[in-house]
Amino acid sequence: MTLEAKAPLPKLSKPKDTEMPEARHYKLLINGEWVDGSTGEEVAVHSPVTGEIIGYYPKASKEDIDRAVKAAREAEEKYRLMPPFERAALMHRIAEAIDRNREKLARLKSLENGKPYEAEALPCVDETAENFRIAAEDVKRLESAIIPSRDGNKRIFTFYRPYGVWTTITPWNFPTLIPSETLAPGLAAGNVIIFKPSEYAPLSGLAMAEAMMEADLPPGIIQCIPGEGPTVGDWLVSHEGVDAIAFTGSDRTGRIIASRAGLKHLLLEMGGNGPTIILDDADLEKAAELTAFGCFYEAGQVCCATERILVHKNIHEEFVELMLEQARQVVLGDPMDENVTMGPLCNEMTARKMERHIADAVEKGAKLLYGGKRAEGYPTDLYYEPTVIDLVPEDALISHEESFGPLAAISVGEDDDDLIRLANIDRYGLQMGLFTSSIRRAFYFADRLRTGNLVINDNTDYWEPHVPFGGAGGTVSGHGRIGGKYTMLDMVYLNTVVLDFMNVRD
Ligand code: ADP
Repeated sequence: MTLEAKAPLPKLSKPKDTEMPEARHYKLLINGEWVDGSTGEEVAVHSPVTGEIIGYYPKASKEDIDRAVKAAREAEEKYRLMPPFERAALMHRIAEAIDRNREKLARLKSLENGKPYEAEALPCVDETAENFRIAAEDVKRLESAIIPSRDGNKRIFTFYRPYGVWTTITPWNFPTLIPSETLAPGLAAGNVIIFKPSEYAPLSGLAMAEAMMEADLPPGIIQCIPGEGPTVGDWLVSHEGVDAIAFTGSDRTGRIIASRAGLKHLLLEMGGNGPTIILDDADLEKAAELTAFGCFYEAGQVCCATERILVHKNIHEEFVELMLEQARQVVLGDPMDENVTMGPLCNEMTARKMERHIADAVEKGAKLLYGGKRAEGYPTDLYYEPTVIDLVPEDALISHEESFGPLAAISVGEDDDDLIRLANIDRYGLQMGLFTSSIRRAFYFADRLRTGNLVINDNTDYWEPHVPFGGAGGTVSGHGRIGGKYTMLDMVYLNTVVLDFMNVRD
């Protein structure tokens, strides 16, 4: 049975504020200056919300990358010696500049990415600023050790030193927040960064860099060059002048980057396919409400979205009904309209992946209960219906790959151990969820689930920016941790200094 998606088709209104940048021509940020790309060509960016062109960015060449790396290397020599408290003050100024540009950045995100303005785009900008504040505090407390020596004439010190020149390569789903997860701790710790926003959200990245430059930064410590992965991205990751790479994106791209990076230091966050497990002693209404949030927030385009729902067989039918109720409440439409709870998908490849995953699951025996296709009557064909699909089998693509769309995909487990087994087929092991009212069962699962992060009795998108976030050992989600000081520690190296008193004069 396929039920019709109930979401009314709201008329798409133009963004409220007429100051919305109208198809601006952006430039590249190299060595503290906004410059044209040396190709002289531009790339037009289309909004998934309206289908219209919302801006242009310069197409960079390999020479532009060489210039950016040269400027970064020069800037790095001085910047790494800036006292940490001055760098902390700089981070606070960046946070203030992002606050001042809050509405502008959020509007751009809504248009470029489809995020509901009030509920998702504004909080995303606020978290971006918060990351710089956290980094400002963390760097002041980046304490290292004085290590006892075997030799009485010696003193041994350790210092955290910045790695040097980084490139930060980011996806489109959180186009200022994800960059800030490494820009903030990286810059605070004295690194210099060449930031490559995704080709699907280049303008948000450039606008963020513009805001950062209002903070009176030393030239060259941040450069911003959007562009396509296999060209601009590859030139950066394989450049001999780049010391380290921070990458967030798909595991497919992460593997390519790892193979192209040689011996560069890597910080990789490569997605998830995390399940939420619903036990038969859980508060089912609450569990359905929070699980639906995990499925439909940001239209499911989050690495810690609830990609699968594993339900204990005793409460399967009841839970499916509750999830359908939740899906019916989703209002799909113009992200600038405050009644809308879900905007369009960001791009065609994500919509196609949803179609492929749903067709595959249905072919293998799953039951499509709600939605399951692109919605009609919207300005672009990227508006995808909130979807509920039941009895998803273990061999379906949904069970093994990130779907990255507005999908509640339900499978049934026989008992606790079967649910753990089903959960652990997740090869990403990034973030999982569990609903139970039993502390004993909560820790039975916590000790057995192969996941970097487990959220018990809340949605899988639950996250705080200073908390360590990343995959479990032996999974394909990457290495290193995202989150406050944990990222900062991944962006510095430990330097040991041994001092002998013998030849010291006084
Ligand atoms: P997503 O679909 O989540 O954006 P991708 O892995 O395709 O995931 O892209 C994430 C980022 O990686 C984007 O900025 C993209 O341009 C970049 N990228 C893609 N391919 C490469 C590559 N071969 N080398 C470097 N960066 C790449």
